[in-house]
Amino acid sequence: MASLLIKGGRVVDPATDTDALLDLLVVDGKIAERRAPGGHAALPPDTRVLEAAGKIVCPGFIDMHVHLREPGHEHKETIESGTRAAAAGGFTSVACMPNTEPWNDGLSVTEYIVTEARRRGAVNVFPIGCISKGGRGEELAEMGDMVRSGAVAVSDDGRPAGSHFLMRMALEYTKIFGIPVIDHCEDRSLTAGGVMHEGYVSTLLGLKGMPGAAEEIAVASDLALAALTRGRLHLAHLSTRGSLELVRRAKSDGLAVTCEVTPHHLLLTADAVMQSDYDPNTKVNPPLRSEEDRQALVAGLRDGTVDAIATDHAPHHPDEKLQEFDDAPFGMVGLETAVPLLLDRLVRPGVIDLKRLVALVSLNPARILGLEKGTLAIGADADITLLDPDLRATVDVARFRSKSRNSPFHGWTLTGWPFATVVGGRVVHEPPAPARA
Ligand SMILES: [Zn+2]
Repeated sequence: MASLLIKGGRVVDPATDTDALLDLLVVDGKIAERRAPGGHAALPPDTRVLEAAGKIVCPGFIDMHVHLREPGHEHKETIESGTRAAAAGGFTSVACMPNTEPWNDGLSVTEYIVTEARRRGAVNVFPIGCISKGGRGEELAEMGDMVRSGAVAVSDDGRPAGSHFLMRMALEYTKIFGIPVIDHCEDRSLTAGGVMHEGYVSTLLGLKGMPGAAEEIAVASDLALAALTRGRLHLAHLSTRGSLELVRRAKSDGLAVTCEVTPHHLLLTADAVMQSDYDPNTKVNPPLRSEEDRQALVAGLRDGTVDAIATDHAPHHPDEKLQEFDDAPFGMVGLETAVPLLLDRLVRPGVIDLKRLVALVSLNPARILGLEKGTLAIGADADITLLDPDLRATVDVARFRSKSRNSPFHGWTLTGWPFATVVGGRVVHEPPAPARA
């Protein structure tokens, strides 16, 4: 394989405690050299040079929570389109949830995803298998088969684990494989029929609410089971202040618990439903919460309670999404907006620094999923995300590589975008050609 020199960029790599101007030389898909700019005596022949002056060079971003919809819902997204969206959005790896059709609850679907991703995927794809057969919450899925075929975690995401008993079994059984159980925390007896966060805005709009307590009750029971089993628990898309307080306490008690939050819960509140005049693209589960909740999530990024930011990329076809608010499915796409949103709204104002961001979207997801990624150390996989911190552009859903357009961020002007994406030493998303003089 030809080699690649990434020249003169600011390398930000929390795993090696690096924030410095460096040249990176990639040979055979691995990081081969890191040197002060211009320090290379002789480059291998056929070395491609990627000029990165003024750019930020990070270990490849990992989105540990996406829905690629294949098999079964290819009109919304495919492994090919979803991974192209990931590459364009600055992600070098994604972990995909099992609520496809059929659900990924065994060898055949896991193998299909792995094979299809190798054939047509633009970035690395790590399947997440089911906790339960068919996601029905009744009996455990064939976890051993799925892990041997490449599954990196189990979850029944889209819905909570079927029962406390099943969750206990999953936390016990996954210890054999050293993989986490990822739970979508929701007490459905409290959210049935709900379409948005239960609070002032839902009352004002006359929409059925989903109380924050529905999430917190599920978080509390999961944490009790993690304490009982000493299994590895990861909580998906947490959205309330109370949930984070429970996690904070569990971590201080020494439990092996981690959690993620989404860009949309960090940046939007239930007010967005009203301000957008019931835009179904603001309908998501868990729902956009209160300002108090939002601020608590941001604080959790800063104090380490939150381990990862993941998009919960949930594509839906326009015909499905553009219904009345009550009838539209939950979910929004996120792969092509996450990085500019986080750079513009969190890093630029100094809410978190770049090193913390890179930990949240690269190093920590790699550790949670047990991937040997998330660093630019010598010898590491050359999965690299390059950012242009000064590029100012407007989100335009018509230009998405995703098959779906369901984003509430259309029209937002943001500064700081992905510049180029490198997977295993291959440039999979290119910077625009320089303007001709
Ligand atoms: Zn979920």
